[in-house]
Amino acid sequence: MKKKIRINYTLITAILLFSAAVFISCIFYSLYIEAKNNIIRSWKNSTTQAARDVDYYMTMPENAVSISAATIESLASEGASHKTIGQYLIDQTEIYASLINDNTTGVYAYYDGKYLDGSGWIPPRYYVPQMRPWYEGAIKQKGSIALVKPYLNLQTNTYMMSVSKMLSDGESVVSMDVFLDGVQSLATEVASEQEIEAALVIDIEGNVVACSDEDDVGKNYLKDGDEFEQKLAGKLKSATNGQFEMEGNGTSYIIFCDSIGDNWNMVFILNKDKTLASLGMIFLALMIALVVVVLVIMTVFFHVTSKHRESRQLGHEMMAMADIYIIAVRVDLPTGNMEIIRGNDDLDRILDNDLTRFNERTQEFARRMTSERSRELMKKFMDPSTLIDRLSEVDSITQEYMDIRGRWIRLRFITAERDANGQAVEILWTFESIDEDRKQQEALRKLSETDIMTGVKNRGSGESYIRQEIAEGKQGMFLLMDADDFKSVNDTFGHKVGDKVIIAIADSLTNAFRDTDIVFRLGGDEFAVFAEGITDKETGLKVIDRFFDELTNAPLPELKGRIITASVGAAFYTDTRYDTFENLYERADRGTYESKRHGGNHVTFEDDELHFQ
Ligand code: GH3
Ligand code: MG
Repeated sequence: MKKKIRINYTLITAILLFSAAVFISCIFYSLYIEAKNNIIRSWKNSTTQAARDVDYYMTMPENAVSISAATIESLASEGASHKTIGQYLIDQTEIYASLINDNTTGVYAYYDGKYLDGSGWIPPRYYVPQMRPWYEGAIKQKGSIALVKPYLNLQTNTYMMSVSKMLSDGESVVSMDVFLDGVQSLATEVASEQEIEAALVIDIEGNVVACSDEDDVGKNYLKDGDEFEQKLAGKLKSATNGQFEMEGNGTSYIIFCDSIGDNWNMVFILNKDKTLASLGMIFLALMIALVVVVLVIMTVFFHVTSKHRESRQLGHEMMAMADIYIIAVRVDLPTGNMEIIRGNDDLDRILDNDLTRFNERTQEFARRMTSERSRELMKKFMDPSTLIDRLSEVDSITQEYMDIRGRWIRLRFITAERDANGQAVEILWTFESIDEDRKQQEALRKLSETDIMTGVKNRGSGESYIRQEIAEGKQGMFLLMDADDFKSVNDTFGHKVGDKVIIAIADSLTNAFRDTDIVFRLGGDEFAVFAEGITDKETGLKVIDRFFDELTNAPLPELKGRIITASVGAAFYTDTRYDTFENLYERADRGTYESKRHGGNHVTFEDDELHFQ
């Protein structure tokens, strides 16, 4: 169950992070698109601006031609002569020269069957004005301004073009030649930007008016261009404003175009990769930074959650471990403040909702909650004045005691935290119920010490109890006894009855002696007793007689009236300085041997002279 919850938790986290990543990616993508559009918009504006610049450059010649045409029209209506018109053209050329500067060569016209030139140029004989492009172009435009295809002026070695206009008579034409240097330099200047592959001014018929690649000026892309140029010129026929993309020589290009007048187009050819490269790099870097940040956040998050999980797990484990305690209290030794991890009514009674003054409480606990026999021991064990010292070498100290209800408890102080000097500053004060254990141990101990058949102590435990009493310097009488002629009981009445007799002997002994006396079976029909406090023959004899009486009256109907007797040897443990158990035993044994010779409930006390010195 727990595991399942953990898996779902991780899954939810992963889904959330994934959603966040998708969301952020979408934001980034839209930012990227926006930024890309901005770049495109900016180039579009640049193209439009360049188109306007060219437009402006061409406006003056166009206005000049329009004004000249209108003036000549009006002069013609007044019947002006060739000379008058010629003079007008010369005057105008002078004005334009000062206004437009070296942009133009001047105004000229074909008027009333004659070529007239404002700059004073005299055409050669073979010159037929009606055959010239400026004338043909104007006729073709039928009164609108005609921008005639640029050409290389051999005299000036620069590209020029003509701006011309047909007059209302349908034959006369006014024209002006314009140097294209300005337009050309504009194209060259624009193309100096690294993203721009080429900038050009091209008319709808494919004629290149100006181009950053000067070799292309005058070229007709539709007729003489390579594949790319033809395609470009073809597209420009329809797309006059805006941008489109084209492939050429394995490179992607973005083409920006903007119309100039009716027939021309300003065209920027941009390398797509170069234009958007920086943008791509910026967004790539941002994405990487974002991924790194997300990864760091994820790592920190997982680290923190796993630590959190670990500590929760640890908490569970601690609580599971704390289950073995009936009381567990965390104590801050310097302040004496306590925190109950696990409590019970006894503790509540002592603390009474006041979790301070640990030192006083321990003594109060010892006084009120421990049994009489454990009290002094526990007061000492819980003595706070020595506690820190006692915990200086070890991490925990324990003491078992009996509480006021007679239950066995194990109290333990555990060092939870030490200061820099190694002194305990935080401890756990715990109580563990060991009553069951104690009872089991007691039962086991008793079992191991008992002679199963008779219920009195067995030889091993009996001996060790006597040795303990001797070691404690307790004086007393030691008896050894052996049933008389027991073999014949077995032989006559059978082994089972023999067993009953042995049990009866044991019962007689326990009945005759006090509970505090040590009665035990040595084996077979032999028993021993240590009766503490009996140090003289008279008293000893009284008790031994009591035993003989008990034995004589033992309820053994199976024996059909036969009486069981025993031979007893007695020795006194009075010389607590030099006597030993071995000597005591030996003296009593000699007595038993002696009694056997007399037969039938006889006791032999050790002789004074036999007493070991
Ligand atoms: P004595 O008066 O010299 O002591 O003679 P006795 O027949 O009592 O001989 P002894 O004390 O040497 O032998 C004790 C006998 O008790 C030996 C054995 O057959 C018998 N015996 C020992 N243990 C048991 C027992 O657990 N049950 C029974 N029924 N008989 C036992
Ligand atoms: Mg015997």
